[in-house]
Amino acid sequence: MPASTPLILLVEDEPQIRRFLRVTLGEHGYRLVEASTGREGLTQVTTQPPDLIILDLGLPDMDGLDFARQVREWSTVPIIVLSARGQEKDKVAALDIGADDYLTKPFGVGELLARLRVALRHTARTAQTEGDSVFEVADFRMDLAARRVFMRGQEVHLTPLEYRLLTTLVHHAGKVLTHSFLLKEVWGPPHVQETHYLRVFMASLRHKLEADPARPRYLLTEQGVGYRLADE
Ligand code: CA
Repeated sequence: MPASTPLILLVEDEPQIRRFLRVTLGEHGYRLVEASTGREGLTQVTTQPPDLIILDLGLPDMDGLDFARQVREWSTVPIIVLSARGQEKDKVAALDIGADDYLTKPFGVGELLARLRVALRHTARTAQTEGDSVFEVADFRMDLAARRVFMRGQEVHLTPLEYRLLTTLVHHAGKVLTHSFLLKEVWGPPHVQETHYLRVFMASLRHKLEADPARPRYLLTEQGVGYRLADE
């Protein structure tokens, strides 16, 4: 396979999930290396640096959160966390440590591939178009240099806080951002608990940007975790 084929490191102790991912990722042209323990995974990260890590949070020898924390000390490689249903707190903790996204088990092939595309594209975009000032997806367009927002060609007027919230989402397009991350970025560290601020401002942004605010196309809710701006 060509060297440009993305290399994915899977850190997961469940053989069934490893088998599923081995088959699926192979079929879709990804290269895969596997580790069944955290220790093994950390060795792999240093000896054969992957383009992306898929990380199970429940590992036999260490907490997946500790794994993510250790990797983030020296690497920005995208990390997608695998968690079981009901582990919302762990998902949020992983995202706050610097994981890029998560999948809840059981997950489907379509969902997995979409998350991989987004995470890998995000790396590519950050590398290539640093300083690019226009963000565009479908009918939504934001000119960050001119501080102007357009929907279906019409300019949309935002309040300074709406604008700051939207800018934060655009800077991390495709990535799920936790409530506390958004509150810290937009309102500042003393307000990380005030999730009602977010609800109010997301509602007003949706009202201004979405054709149907009850069924958003761009400003997506991640139940119990945070929000994501669609980037495709
Ligand atoms: Ca496990």
